[in-house]
Amino acid sequence: MKKYEAQICVIAAGPSGLSAAVQAAQDGAKVIVLEKNAAVGGAANMGMGPLGIGTKYQKQQMIDISVEKAFNMFMDYTHYNVDARLIKRYFSQSAETIQWLEDMGVEFEGAFKYFPQSEATWHIVKTGKEIGPRAASFMNRALYQKALELGVEFLLESPAQKILKEDGKVVGVLAKGPGNEEIEVKCRAAIICTGGAGANKQMIRDKIGLEWGTNVFNFAIPGIMGDGLRMAWDAGADQLPVRIEMAANCGGGEPASGSVSNIFKQPNLLVNRFGKRIMNEDFMQNTTYLSNVANHQKDKIVFSIVDSSIVKYYVKNGVEVTSLVDPDPDVSGFYEGMETLLANGSKNFFRADTLEELAEKIGVNVENFKETVDTYNYFCDSYDQEFFKDPRFLRPIFKAPFYACAFYPGGYGTVGGVRINENCEACDSEFMPIPGLYCAGADSCNIYDDSYMFLLPGNSMGYAVNTGRIAGMSAAEYVNL
Ligand SMILES: Cc1cc2nc3c(=O)[nH]c(=O)nc-3n(C[C@H](O)[C@H](O)[C@H](O)COP(=O)(O)OP(=O)(O)OC[C@H]3O[C@@H](n4cnc5c(N)ncnc54)[C@H](O)[C@@H]3O)c2cc1C
Repeated sequence: MKKYEAQICVIAAGPSGLSAAVQAAQDGAKVIVLEKNAAVGGAANMGMGPLGIGTKYQKQQMIDISVEKAFNMFMDYTHYNVDARLIKRYFSQSAETIQWLEDMGVEFEGAFKYFPQSEATWHIVKTGKEIGPRAASFMNRALYQKALELGVEFLLESPAQKILKEDGKVVGVLAKGPGNEEIEVKCRAAIICTGGAGANKQMIRDKIGLEWGTNVFNFAIPGIMGDGLRMAWDAGADQLPVRIEMAANCGGGEPASGSVSNIFKQPNLLVNRFGKRIMNEDFMQNTTYLSNVANHQKDKIVFSIVDSSIVKYYVKNGVEVTSLVDPDPDVSGFYEGMETLLANGSKNFFRADTLEELAEKIGVNVENFKETVDTYNYFCDSYDQEFFKDPRFLRPIFKAPFYACAFYPGGYGTVGGVRINENCEACDSEFMPIPGLYCAGADSCNIYDDSYMFLLPGNSMGYAVNTGRIAGMSAAEYVNL
């Protein structure tokens, strides 16, 4: 067995683990990080940036958001079903964390919304190229460099397996090295940061009741298997619900072109299996809401419907609603993209010459569907008496061919599972901290109640970075006592 010694062992090097390691080292602790993958950054390498509230960017951009406003919004949204002390600490620290990241070389484009109804709290990391996915990998790189500078030791390809305790206190962590050799890190504190269980189909089935690949399609980042949840629970931490961080999935994972998915993501008519409307489609840009809506329908599916006149309008003028994730309004590749999908026997994208045929193809009640379209078309001439949709997005469905696309529940991964307090100490079922055990990031993210709070975007990476720092501060204080 290979033996190492540190004051603090950080388990995993996603944004929460990296932040914990840097903060603890800055606070004077000797830190070793165990990371399962060959590279650092975790799921956040796919993302664009963390939340900040009251930052200099928001002040410069005259964005009206304060800790008080965000806190009250958040508590209201979650019905106070969450730890107010932790939320307050997270939000209060978040602006200083943006500065902390800048001090180590991270640059930001500014503060952005994710969709029109959201607040501009999303701090997108600058890459030197256009704003786009994976920008946050630059933040992870800076955190990693800073950790190395501070003398943090990284053991890559070394998944942690077990927390060791003596007399109720953490005394070490067992892991497996690249050649499967046994590793023991002797330490007084361990910080668990393994990012939840988004790639663990069995855990998603057992803990959440959804079938990955059938009725939920989340980003399954390799290696995010719930190891930290299991280790924390085995070490005595209380189990809280594990939830999907919902984000609707367009097309069940079929590789549709941006033009195709962008047209179907517009606030079009949405129907369920019964051929009935299900929401004010203005709100489908909040991908958590759309995912929740899909989750509550029969077969956990909804369909976005457009006709040829709508497609023609979007192809000619560009789509109405874009986001930083789908920034390009140009959807001129729609027809070609649909041809490819249909030629490949798509199960989620449809075209038909009549409304009856479309209803049959997508498996919805034909009569209801026709009635829904009639009523919807009438609303287009008057106003939406059913769900009060913005008239700008009311476009009649009348011209063949007609198109549809299936949407399902989806997610960025899982959140929650390990009980913590506002110091990110892992706690037992009596709410008592387990001496030397800390948890941060998605493993401990019990703050959204039943739904991800997308109205303050950047919230999950923001939570990861800020709780990582809090755990690092708490653990450093504990080992230096
Ligand atoms: C496509 C995509 C885009 C996103 N964009 C954003 C965004 O712009 N803003 C935002 O706020 N959120 C975003 N998110 C969510 C955000 O990335 C996550 O909330 C965040 O990465 C969670 O951080 P974490 O440190 O808890 O876990 P992760 O980033 O998931 O990292 C977990 C780490 O744990 C390691 N690990 C697992 N098991 C072990 C083990 N046994 N031992 C050692 N290491 C282990 C993994 O290899 C991984 O490196 C996005 C997510 C996805 C999938």
